[in-house]
Amino acid sequence: MRKSKSPAFSVRDFFARFPDDEACLQHIMDVRFGMRHACRECGVEATFHRMTDRRAFACAACGDHVYPTAGTVLEDTRTPLQSWFYAIYLFVTTRHGVSGKELQRQLGVTYKTAWRMGMKIRELIGSGEDFDMLQGHVEMDEAYVGGKRPGKRGRGAEGKTIIMGMKQHGGPIRTVVIPNVKKPTLRGVVLKNVKPGSVVSTDELMSYGLLTDDGYVHGTVTHSEKVWRAYDLRTKQFHSTNSVETFWGLFKRSICSTHISVSSKYMDRYLAEFTFRSNYRVMQNAMFDLIVSRV
Ligand SMILES: [Zn+2]
Repeated sequence: MRKSKSPAFSVRDFFARFPDDEACLQHIMDVRFGMRHACRECGVEATFHRMTDRRAFACAACGDHVYPTAGTVLEDTRTPLQSWFYAIYLFVTTRHGVSGKELQRQLGVTYKTAWRMGMKIRELIGSGEDFDMLQGHVEMDEAYVGGKRPGKRGRGAEGKTIIMGMKQHGGPIRTVVIPNVKKPTLRGVVLKNVKPGSVVSTDELMSYGLLTDDGYVHGTVTHSEKVWRAYDLRTKQFHSTNSVETFWGLFKRSICSTHISVSSKYMDRYLAEFTFRSNYRVMQNAMFDLIVSRV
């Protein structure tokens, strides 16, 4: 298990930073517009002052109003801004994710509200995650999640969602929901996400020729024969998909233990949440700011 070197974002830190709704509003203003910015009305590089009678700031030069939450998920919410911020905080700091029940308990809102907040936050997390193409050595592996609990450990069981993960050694992991494990689908995922010339490790689902013809150095491990790590004479590389499998392990366990059930309809959001947390896990503060900047 990897240890975080940077200090975690403690509950105490959170409440020091955001003691009330006012502090949250200020923060959104700061992140979205800046307390001093070129006024869209008069064009003056002006300072903006907090208005006492509404959730707005006024231009010092012309008095134009800026509503920091306008056009965001927080615009019409009756839930206090601090509750939203705290919910985001929980998403950032809870390794196994946050269920609707947990949010309900922590925030003192109805389950329906809590569930909706959770989904909104997952949506924010999933938006704007843009990486460069993965490169170097990339591990790929697929997994089946959700749906009905399989009686036998059947793969591709009824109602399951197929997900594909790609992890760059020493770099980010990227995940996508895929419709099937047919070769053209898998190949399409690689072409879209991994730079040609990279070393790609997969299980035997993908045959050699498939990727080598596209300019990849491709090696496989034969999972059906319980081979998890193998040296390949042809590519002169060790191949395994262990780091993606570690991620699947956490994802599946968390989905089972934290959430009662996740329908395939929402699987991409949960996946985005866990992927995001995995990629930023040593930077909880940065993660928090990033999510808030996306409201
Ligand atoms: Zn102005």
